[in-house]
Amino acid sequence: MRAVKLYGAGDVRVDEVPMPTIREVGDAIIKLAAACVCGSDLWAYRGVDPINDPVTVGHEYCGVVQEVGPSVKNVKPGDFVVGSFFASDNTCEICRSGYQSGCLDRRGMGAENCQAEYVRVPLADGTLVATPRMPEPDLVPHLLAASDVLGTGWFAAKAAEVGPGKTVAVIGDGAVGLLGVLAAKELGAERIIAMSRHESRQKLALEFGATDIVAERGDEGVARIKELTGGLGVHSALEAVGTQESMMQAIRSTRRGGHVGFVGVLHGVNIPGGEFFMSHVHIHGGPAPVRDYLPDLIARIVERRIEPGKVFDLELPFDEAAEAYRAMDERRAIKALLTF
Ligand SMILES: [Zn+2]
Repeated sequence: MRAVKLYGAGDVRVDEVPMPTIREVGDAIIKLAAACVCGSDLWAYRGVDPINDPVTVGHEYCGVVQEVGPSVKNVKPGDFVVGSFFASDNTCEICRSGYQSGCLDRRGMGAENCQAEYVRVPLADGTLVATPRMPEPDLVPHLLAASDVLGTGWFAAKAAEVGPGKTVAVIGDGAVGLLGVLAAKELGAERIIAMSRHESRQKLALEFGATDIVAERGDEGVARIKELTGGLGVHSALEAVGTQESMMQAIRSTRRGGHVGFVGVLHGVNIPGGEFFMSHVHIHGGPAPVRDYLPDLIARIVERRIEPGKVFDLELPFDEAAEAYRAMDERRAIKALLTF
């Protein structure tokens, strides 16, 4: 089968590799309906996370179950399934508390090579959620988005305590930030301020439910948010970038007693203790427990209430994966879909 591999910074290739096989009794093998590139794959692509040997990439997936191990009971061959980027047993105490991405037996799907034609999913019973029926082909991008970017945007909103009557700022106009806007809208936010300076991304943010756009960033962005909120700041800030600047922008945009939900993978972020102490802001985030939200998100998608797959603004044949990475790296594309 074909699979994408990263040989070094900026060096993406499509290789012929052996098919995955059942290795543990709880595994499932899935034929992927499509594949995609995540903003977090770009950290390795840009050489920020160094690479020595060629590495497998991709951690988002949905598709049809081909084969299951002898202990698997909840899914069967022929089911269309979606799973999270962390496989989880969904039975341990941490899973049952709604933090499946912190499962005591979690397995990162990045190690399984999800930018490929087939993938092995460990802990299939706890990880995979089947759709109620075989989805129409046009639903595939939306379901694939549920595997990570939608679930992650959703967690950012949940972690920031978004709800009816709340004013929300979303920092980051990548796929996760844009889907954070969609999540805030679905969770009933009254006002949603999207921070973006790119016209096509602003347009999608408005389509997803943003009520205001702020193009300024850093201190000027914070000043603009304060101006829009009577000097108080927002109730909820969603941080979907992961840099020092974006994290401080989120904290400084939030009112006293408000909440920051952070889901951008943090790189080199140091929050000054004195400022944090004086801010009265709650901060919560990390790798999103997507598995917890999947049944709800899948229902919203198959009932056609939400269209998170609109973040895929570039569709390429699988063999052109290198161009998908380039386009996202150069911010020519929000998110690239790879079709077989
Ligand atoms: Zn668990």
